[in-house]
Amino acid sequence: MKTGICVIGAGPAGLMAAIHAAAGQTPTWVVEANAAAGRKLLLTGGGRCNFTHAADPRELANAFGKAGRFLRHSLYEFSPNEVRKFFRSRGLADAVEPDGCVFPAHRGAADVRDILANEAQKLGTHFRYRARVRTIAADDEGFRIDTESRKVLAERVILATGGVSWPQTGSQGDGYTFAAQLGHTVVPPKPALVPLVTRETWPQELAGISLSGVRLWATVHGRKLATAGNMLFTCNGIGGPAVLDLSRLLADDLGEKGAGIDIGIDALPALDPSQLDQRLQQEGRTHSKKAIANILSELVPRQFARIVCRLAQCDGDSQAGQLSAEKRRQLVRVLKSLPLCVTGTEPIAKATVTHGGVSREEIDPRTMESKIRPGLFFAGEVIDLDGPCGGYNLQMCWSTGALAGRSAARTLLSKDAST
Ligand SMILES: Cc1cc2nc3c(=O)[nH]c(=O)nc-3n(C[C@H](O)[C@H](O)[C@H](O)COP(=O)(O)OP(=O)(O)OC[C@H]3O[C@@H](n4cnc5c(N)ncnc54)[C@H](O)[C@@H]3O)c2cc1C
Repeated sequence: MKTGICVIGAGPAGLMAAIHAAAGQTPTWVVEANAAAGRKLLLTGGGRCNFTHAADPRELANAFGKAGRFLRHSLYEFSPNEVRKFFRSRGLADAVEPDGCVFPAHRGAADVRDILANEAQKLGTHFRYRARVRTIAADDEGFRIDTESRKVLAERVILATGGVSWPQTGSQGDGYTFAAQLGHTVVPPKPALVPLVTRETWPQELAGISLSGVRLWATVHGRKLATAGNMLFTCNGIGGPAVLDLSRLLADDLGEKGAGIDIGIDALPALDPSQLDQRLQQEGRTHSKKAIANILSELVPRQFARIVCRLAQCDGDSQAGQLSAEKRRQLVRVLKSLPLCVTGTEPIAKATVTHGGVSREEIDPRTMESKIRPGLFFAGEVIDLDGPCGGYNLQMCWSTGALAGRSAARTLLSKDAST
């Protein structure tokens, strides 16, 4: 079978690439290993799908750190506003949460997926499901793509096979193998946006309990890294959005054998240490007979308050009126700067995204075309790109997908015009 453009992978990046390729009147095929499109997309935002972030392209690019420079062009080509317009014009109203996360207002991830698959189909894209690609070979005629059941000859290939996290959704790292076989460098994949494992075991006692609006920090190679938001205690350590974001910043430094990274948690960032000290003094005067743990429970979850007392070596059952200045300061220290040692992460299979992938250095950021193999394009998480929690990763998929699709179609049309 022969086609102009073959998109490999029907995740968010591949679907958006197919739509923009097919909109250029180019014969487009999508080849997908699963029986349906967007299996991982269906899980996003707990099924609600945080599909973008209300920010301008510059702010969005900055959230990707060093990789922001690479992303900037694609984000301007297909910005968060344009993504919202795209879905709105197809019947999907959205709602912006106070932190800037954008979700469908009434519907969820399945509707996002269906809009994309229907749009691609309406534009004439052919879908081939249950067709895991085994090999891709390049020659003068284009690309020969071997799937389990058939061979496809394509003039352009868009590789949108995702990373290696949540492999049960279909993304098993095949794209890295294809890219490497076609001459690309692959930055070794590591888990990002993943729960952290701690040396301390007390977090286990709090598994399932969350703290809201905390601040986390770590100092690595002299650089202070910080995140903020909600966190959760888990069976092996800590998780939740602020921790997942920190895991991404630590991705390159974690996992070195035996290395541990010291982090700090400010459980009450709204109060500075002297305000917190005064608040505890005040509570001690007003409720002098109340147990210290109960006083702390006004500020943090009860079970966590007990642990704070233990770490501060303070008897939580003793009366607040009897709390010495030294013990009070000790409680303040623990609440404002709770130390933990991070020894690793949960496995990459449990990570929300993959850190690493096809090297950005070898992809033209203005087109998403390979600098090594003309006619080969990349989109989405298969590229060495990962952003924080909050809709950034899907926005990256929409933007790189749209740009790859448009560019692939453009290069085909200009080739046809010149022959
Ligand atoms: C639980 C969870 C929740 C998330 N929530 C959010 C969220 O709310 N907001 C957000 O921005 N991000 C979220 N993410 C991240 C986001 O889902 C991913 O970044 C995004 O799905 C990546 O899209 P992609 O198209 O690059 O790859 P994928 O979604 O992984 O799609 C790749 C596709 O390629 C197919 N494929 C792979 N290899 C082959 C092959 N050899 N042949 C044929 N097909 C192949 C796969 O089957 C798959 O369908 C979440 C991730 C997880 C795991």
